[in-house]
Amino acid sequence: MKTLSSIGLTLAAALSCAAPWAHAQDKVINIYSARHYPGDVQLYAAFTQSTGIQIKRVDADDAGILQRLRAEGAASPADVILLVDASRLWRAEVDGLFAPVKSKVLEDAIPVQLRGKTSADGTPWFGFSSRARVIVYNKAGVPKGQVDTYEKLAEPKNKGLLCTRSGSHPYNLSLFGAMNEHLGSAATEAWLKGLVSNMARNPVGGDTDQIKATASGECGVALTNTYYLARLMRSDKAEDRAVMDKVGVVFPNQSSWGTHVNIAGGAVAKNAKNPAYALQFLEFLASTQAQEYFANGNNEWPVAKGIKISNPALESMSGGSFKAETIPVSIVGMNQVKVQQMLDRVGYR
Ligand code: FE
Repeated sequence: MKTLSSIGLTLAAALSCAAPWAHAQDKVINIYSARHYPGDVQLYAAFTQSTGIQIKRVDADDAGILQRLRAEGAASPADVILLVDASRLWRAEVDGLFAPVKSKVLEDAIPVQLRGKTSADGTPWFGFSSRARVIVYNKAGVPKGQVDTYEKLAEPKNKGLLCTRSGSHPYNLSLFGAMNEHLGSAATEAWLKGLVSNMARNPVGGDTDQIKATASGECGVALTNTYYLARLMRSDKAEDRAVMDKVGVVFPNQSSWGTHVNIAGGAVAKNAKNPAYALQFLEFLASTQAQEYFANGNNEWPVAKGIKISNPALESMSGGSFKAETIPVSIVGMNQVKVQQMLDRVGYR
């Protein structure tokens, strides 16, 4: 009995180690993904279909993925890492979790301000889709002109009206990191202090929760990424579309530096066991097929040069086009440490 059960245990242990990860000769890549978008399955299937490379996926949030990669070290089975924010991509780069790549396909396709900083070793990461961080307001309670710039959100006239998710969430850290480039440090900290004193409630929930609370009137104005709005607009639930009837959308700062744009991006993992396949996957993400998926499947803007979008929800929201800020996302990511210290000082939770 003892022998049998210990054999059973050994087998079970061996299987539990081997099962999630196929061997290199199986033509497979392991992707650690923080993309939280249900339709992405189609994207992965299309890659496997066109290359014969199988995908094994680990889904977690950005912080969970970085923690896991650090814990696994050189033994990590990760080949590709997908993260959904410039500040996280920068953090992973600085922590040495990426293997820089040299790829003419990627260099030609992805604009230079939407990638990590290139060194002699190559480029650490690339953005593959973009999203704007916009302002939503309650149409019945707040005039659009009162909330059409990020700066105005901190003005006394918006006291008691503002809702946001946690200040430390990467989407906000990146927006605040961009503000630091536009305004300088002293003015950015004063602005953050103004945001805190204008809060309708303590930061809670995700972007969709802020949109819904703005529609209900609990908040007068909020910050959100664009794809959450498009998702509600395109929802088959009448109550979601009713939410969108009650709110207006502003692409802020159209007469100054433009609306803050963040990216979702990817990299080859530092300890990738299949780096060539991993690079093939990144190059696939820059293809027309994948870029069109980002626009239509997940309501993001494609970033590869020469790709046109056809997403009525995004188009109606932005009026067809909008002015986006042009600072490199790598700088935005880099500012997050400074910005987090400001948040601690002004009590932005
Ligand atoms: Fe998101």
